[in-house]
Amino acid sequence: MRILTGLQPSGKLHVGNYFGAMEPAVKLQDEGEAFYFIANYHAMTSVRNPQDLRDYTRELAVDFLACGLDPERAVFFRQSDVPEVNELAWILSTVCPMSLLEKCHSYKDKTAKGISPNHGLFAYPVLMAADILLYDSNLVPVGKDQKQHLEVTRDLAGKINEAYGEGTLVVPEPMIRDESGVIPGLDGQKMSKSYNNTLPLFGDEKPSKKLIMRIKTDSTPVEDPKPVEGSLILPLFRLFADDAAYQDMIRSHEEGGCGYGDLKKRLAEAYWEYFEPMRQRRAELIDNIDHVDSVLAAGATRAREEATKVIDRVRKAVGLK
Ligand code: ATP
Ligand code: MG
Repeated sequence: MRILTGLQPSGKLHVGNYFGAMEPAVKLQDEGEAFYFIANYHAMTSVRNPQDLRDYTRELAVDFLACGLDPERAVFFRQSDVPEVNELAWILSTVCPMSLLEKCHSYKDKTAKGISPNHGLFAYPVLMAADILLYDSNLVPVGKDQKQHLEVTRDLAGKINEAYGEGTLVVPEPMIRDESGVIPGLDGQKMSKSYNNTLPLFGDEKPSKKLIMRIKTDSTPVEDPKPVEGSLILPLFRLFADDAAYQDMIRSHEEGGCGYGDLKKRLAEAYWEYFEPMRQRRAELIDNIDHVDSVLAAGATRAREEATKVIDRVRKAVGLK
């Protein structure tokens, strides 16, 4: 079974990315053959500065490896190192009805927010379909926000197979994470780079802890019980604490006698400690950046081997060969 996931190098990674995408991806390395890629073509729809794109790409590589991506087991590569993906995207676009893309929520949402409706943004689901189909992926773990794009992928694969013969492309299965997997941001909305409400995965200690101290709370006096429902401290603390510590934190809310400042301090400590092993591994990787580059180079070679097989099959099927 081949499992595929991509992450965009569109800014600094945050705790939501870690628990929502990276940690599950690391766990899935044991379940099948993992293909994990850095979606730098996709990031071009939001990153305009070339040096930023390079920096974010390398940082993402370092961060994902620091979080446990094992290049001995997973194929880890940059999307742009396999440019065949663009050829497949073109082939898919020739069977893709305009109406299918016009229906996509993420495009509608982004343009509603005033982001300019360029063709890249519109055609994003076609490139995403190509990302998946180019590697004969069987399983694609995604958040709920990507469910519709995965349906587009399955649709397009079906259309190609109908037009050019069954088995031209492998139709993948989605693996949708449920809503409970959505990590709240420091303002209570979904944690998201574009909402400016994130807790960084690898930030500097003081500014990161400061962000936690600024979490919005009500004006319950120190000695009074604090509401558990709607607390922003608890759902975040739960991510970093074992069950006993979590229960203890609930009790501290319920019993009162403990100010929000203290509760936040405990959260900040737990957060900092939780990522300490990854932080150390990250520092080692930064000192050995040649290793990171060679992991990506080897990943590109391996990914390209697979991609060449698939694109060759498709070229023959459609009459390009
Ligand atoms: P943007 O605001 O640019 O969309 P983002 O912060 O939402 O950025 P993405 O690059 O869209 O991050 O998402 C990368 C991965 O992280 C996806 O698999 C997505 O489902 C997951 N993810 C992002 N935010 C959260 C969150 N708050 N909770 C759980 N998973 C998340
Ligand atoms: Mg997002």
